Amino acid sequence: MPAHPSSPAAAATAAPSFLSLAPDALKALLLSWGEPAFRAQQLHDWIYVKRVFSLSSMSNLSASLRQRLATHLDWQLPKIHSQMSGADGSTKLLLESERGFIEAVILRYDGRTSLCVSSQVGCKLACTFCQTGKLGFVRHLSAAEILAQFAIADQIVQPEGRRISHVVFMGMGEPLDNYANVVDAVNRLSGKEAFGLSVRNVTVSTSGLVPQIRTLAHDVRAALAVSLHAARDELRTELMPINRRYPLAELKAALLDYQKDSGDKLTIEYILIKDKNCGLREAKELVKFLHGLRAKVNLIPFNSHPGMPFDRPSDEDIRTFQKYLSDRSIAAPVRYSKGLEVSGACGQLAAKVIQSISALPQREAVLNRQVQAPLS
Ligand code: SF4
Repeated sequence: MPAHPSSPAAAATAAPSFLSLAPDALKALLLSWGEPAFRAQQLHDWIYVKRVFSLSSMSNLSASLRQRLATHLDWQLPKIHSQMSGADGSTKLLLESERGFIEAVILRYDGRTSLCVSSQVGCKLACTFCQTGKLGFVRHLSAAEILAQFAIADQIVQPEGRRISHVVFMGMGEPLDNYANVVDAVNRLSGKEAFGLSVRNVTVSTSGLVPQIRTLAHDVRAALAVSLHAARDELRTELMPINRRYPLAELKAALLDYQKDSGDKLTIEYILIKDKNCGLREAKELVKFLHGLRAKVNLIPFNSHPGMPFDRPSDEDIRTFQKYLSDRSIAAPVRYSKGLEVSGACGQLAAKVIQSISALPQREAVLNRQVQAPLS
């Protein structure tokens, strides 16, 4: 990553990240230097097929070309501030960036390896159950910074004989609030000329930004997940203030149109919070909201943690809620999120780091990075 513009090293490291150039642009750059097309293809293959990101490992490129690439582009990936692994096969990464931390979580399953990426540092939307919402908004991540999370995670799992096969935009931030960069990153994750993930293996999650949902199907092929968490306006607005701007009726209309345009099934994410949104009344409201939509519901018991005024419901309440849905032919698996034991819920690791440095002299410097911004 380039140094902070105010640092003395900024002038020397102001080159753009190699990930900021789309594959076509990278090839065009080499052709403009007089390199043959096969050389441009070799560089492309190192990055996008072999997922090798170190120039020194690109053995079939000449030393002079590698030197020129090193001068014109920044090949540094973000520094890993901390890395925590859990017994459930998850690894939580906290990456350093110019302003604030970037979280990403690797999730290992039999036969696939997923990566949960962040799209913003912080978030504007202030959902009441979310640690990231408490941190406030700092800035959008560029497409290169989103792809850098993928590059770092892939390097971590490669020695285990794994590759990152799935990406979910469910880390810090509201992806559709950073629309252009997220669309760019998704297209470069799933495009044939890029990292080549199946379009079905890339999931964009949203809290319900209606205008962006209405354009998404035209701009990118990815699975869409919607964080619903309540199907009654009053309750949803309490949990997710964005509902005041885009209430349920508008959200549902946009989702119906999205399904018409994309032909895709939706995933509805529903966090179950004790004594809040998991009674019979809320189950009935959810079924009514789902009428006409082709969707499965992921039920996620709330992960209790300090500083949050909510708790996880009892197992019996979870079963009763799930049964109400399944009795009406709605697929509603209960997801016990991986990564929880390593502070996997969004924003938890960044929140912990900010707390842990609160006694240190650099506290002010770090907290001053948390620049609040209004809702766009
Ligand atoms: S749940 Fe998502 S949209 Fe809501 S505050 Fe957290 S990161 Fe933002």
